[in-house]
Amino acid sequence: MTATYLPNFSHLYVERAARTHPAAQRLFERFSRARIVAIDDYRSVFNRRGQAFREQKRSVKLILAVKQEPFIYPGSHYAPDFDQPNFCYNAMILNCIYDCEYCYLQGMYSSANIVVFVNTKPFFDAADKIRKERGSIYLCVSYDTDLLAFENIIPYCREWIEWAVDRPDALLEIRTKSANFRAIADLPAPSNVILAWTLSPHDVCLAHEQRTPRLAARLAAANDAIQRGWRVRLCIDPILQIRDWRAVYSALVDQIFGAVAAESVDDFSIGVFRMNQDYLDRIRRSRETSVLAHYPFANTKKMSTYAADVREDMLDHVKHRILSYAPAARVYCH
Ligand code: SF4
Repeated sequence: MTATYLPNFSHLYVERAARTHPAAQRLFERFSRARIVAIDDYRSVFNRRGQAFREQKRSVKLILAVKQEPFIYPGSHYAPDFDQPNFCYNAMILNCIYDCEYCYLQGMYSSANIVVFVNTKPFFDAADKIRKERGSIYLCVSYDTDLLAFENIIPYCREWIEWAVDRPDALLEIRTKSANFRAIADLPAPSNVILAWTLSPHDVCLAHEQRTPRLAARLAAANDAIQRGWRVRLCIDPILQIRDWRAVYSALVDQIFGAVAAESVDDFSIGVFRMNQDYLDRIRRSRETSVLAHYPFANTKKMSTYAADVREDMLDHVKHRILSYAPAARVYCH
């Protein structure tokens, strides 16, 4: 018998302290038919042990919460800093509306439900504090989620872009797999905001990136942003060692440069699959039949990835293909 599931966001779990925040009010209006469940602390729902991540993904609930310190974190060594000093990230939303098979969030969190922190001001204050103390900040605001994919529900990208406008000592990165550029297309393009699209071959999108927009849609959104003067970073990450990977990733690069002008891209970021070993172990337990998750990766320093020679080969191949179109491009490899 097939199970039936409630639609996404049928329930809002709401911390009592979160109720009066404007962002919470906005979500109450947006999901006016949702059942509201009052809670004291989001962690009692989100961090509860023994939750079935894969089951929850079929019917995701929203949890509205008030974040306590810290509001900003030093950049992770799994993530590139693009040679920028004072690399930090924050997480105003935890979890994602997409469902990529390789997503580390399913190893990091016990729950697939989505937490939205509604007390936004301390996040901005924390970024300002670092900016003033250290003279600059490179801030990634879309790391443990896809913030632009969520923009029609809660416009946090807009708020960050507006924050950045008169802070030339701040550099923002908004990373996404969405095609939702139109949600912010009316804003002027600040020179200190980078929109970073993660791109995968069409067949990888279909097979491993459930619910995400297809490659062509992401490329069209990226090109739209470029045409309107935005700085755009293109990321091919993770590169997967799938069958015929050389031909598949060559074709991806060809398709990218068929859609965007080579010199119009700010930079490129490429990386092979890599993940904290503990997270991967958890994913393997919940995705017993996933060939991707059960690949015999090499483990070094608690990180699971391809063997060093394979990794180098993959990065070299993709980098050279990019440089064949854009010889002067900055290509960061991870
Ligand atoms: S888009 Fe990113 S954050 Fe969202 S499920 Fe995929 S890998 Fe995870």
